[in-house]
Amino acid sequence: MSGTRTFTMIKPDAVKNQHIGPILERITSSGFKIVAMKLTQLSERDASLFYAVHKERPFFSELVDFMTSGPIVAAILEKENAVDDFRMLIGATNPAEAAEGTIRKLFAKSIGENAIHGSDSDENAEIESAFHFSGREQF
Ligand code: GDP
Repeated sequence: MSGTRTFTMIKPDAVKNQHIGPILERITSSGFKIVAMKLTQLSERDASLFYAVHKERPFFSELVDFMTSGPIVAAILEKENAVDDFRMLIGATNPAEAAEGTIRKLFAKSIGENAIHGSDSDENAEIESAFHFSGREQF
């Protein structure tokens, strides 16, 4: 059975553009319960570790610069089939290819500055949640 939790970040572009409220509204009205949440800012070390899987990609330094450029909202979300349902809600990595009504289609400008993160597997959801939150911060 697939897991019931996923991890998300509202990225610096969306925070800067005052999209926290509308994005959270879409998340909660789609049936996700927020079980942990904080406004925070990633250091260069945090962002490099979080995206270590992409460190050989040509866009890695651009990605780290972007993710450290301003505050983010980090959150753990709960719902049946959380990982897959949340990936559907946020849409494709490139907003130009994202389906109508998805968060990236509505709020993202480019493949790099794409408004929101969603874990791509149950295993990564757990690793990413633990990266940002201690057990005591989760409900
Ligand atoms: P995701 O799972 O949909 O977030 O996509 P990936 O795991 O493939 O990429 C992680 C993040 O790296 C994306 O959400 C983007 O912020 C960034 N990214 C991916 N591809 C590119 C690219 O071609 N250029 C830039 N600048 N950033 C990218």
